[in-house]
Amino acid sequence: AADHPAAGGLLTIDLDALTGNWRRLRDALSPGTECAGVVKANGYGLGAVTVARALSRAGCRTFFVAQLDEGLRLRPTLPRDARLFVLSGPAPGTAAAFAAAGLIPVLNSPEQIAAWADLARARDRALPAAIHVDTGMARLGLTPGEVAALAADGGVPPGLRPVLVMSHFACADEPGHPLTPRQIEAFRAARAAFPGVPGSLANSAGVFLGPEAYHDLARPGVALYGSNPTPGRPNPMADVIRLQGRVLQVRCVDAPGSVGYGASHRVACRSLIATVGIGYADGFPRSASNSAVGYVGETPVPMVGRVSMDLVTFDVSGLPADRMVRAGDLIDLIGPHNPVDDLARRAGTIGYEILTTLGPRYARRHV
Ligand code: PLP
Repeated sequence: AADHPAAGGLLTIDLDALTGNWRRLRDALSPGTECAGVVKANGYGLGAVTVARALSRAGCRTFFVAQLDEGLRLRPTLPRDARLFVLSGPAPGTAAAFAAAGLIPVLNSPEQIAAWADLARARDRALPAAIHVDTGMARLGLTPGEVAALAADGGVPPGLRPVLVMSHFACADEPGHPLTPRQIEAFRAARAAFPGVPGSLANSAGVFLGPEAYHDLARPGVALYGSNPTPGRPNPMADVIRLQGRVLQVRCVDAPGSVGYGASHRVACRSLIATVGIGYADGFPRSASNSAVGYVGETPVPMVGRVSMDLVTFDVSGLPADRMVRAGDLIDLIGPHNPVDDLARRAGTIGYEILTTLGPRYARRHV
């Protein structure tokens, strides 16, 4: 939907910035390393189909989603030669659905490997898959013991065609964390069990760790969408989203008074309060109550009072009279002066969570 005045919020998604970020990540990698795009959780909240189509036009050939349903929706919209991996792999009883749709499962356990190999044997054809090895994240993937058992058994079962062996960093966003070199070494060791199979280890932050993390394919997600992959360092990525909230009313609140639920914001002197039609039902974090900052042009306006379901309130008393907001005007809740990571910090969360919970009520505009 384009901008329409009924929506409480306008979400602008800059697809040129998105593809610029992908190129920036690709160019940071060694020439032999492919740069994929992670578009799970509806393209980190920005729309998987739109995001994948833009990345595809920029030259991205490999995509990752988390769940089968995400894969089923996205696969028909991608070019035929694009590869689409599903990170959670086939749950019991779903292998046939993966194969029918041309989705490549990431196999995370001996059971998933067996199910995929059984299907390949039943179909009498080789079926491609990725193998996930756990190098220290301890969520998904074959343990070192399971990798050793597979190797002792003669490798992956016949019919299963491994096209990728992958693992995932736990602490790549914290440069110098001791787990990272241990994971790099564990991955190098695990790859020996899959001779000739391309490897993939780096997420967004991993792209900035250097060639030891690159292998054959990097899988950046959050950095594509403008969030800083390594929060302790300057952000090398361009902002992708802007979230503008529409002013519903501006009122004068006399002192002593308060604003919003719980009367959590006390008004010590006569204040102008602008109420904007965005709330936690849109994914705007309630934990940013009394701490987020909006912008009117270049001028910051503090968010005051609690974030409600559909409303937030700003103290706009500091705006000059000739720039005072009125009903229908827009205030930046995420924008050039208050990017997504800034809101995340004020809300005590991470950019990932702000992005992936952007609500469906926003009018979305792609530029
Ligand atoms: N690879 C896997 C297995 C993931 O789970 C994720 C996201 O969490 C990514 C890659 C992308 O990570 P990031 O968004 O940190 O780049």
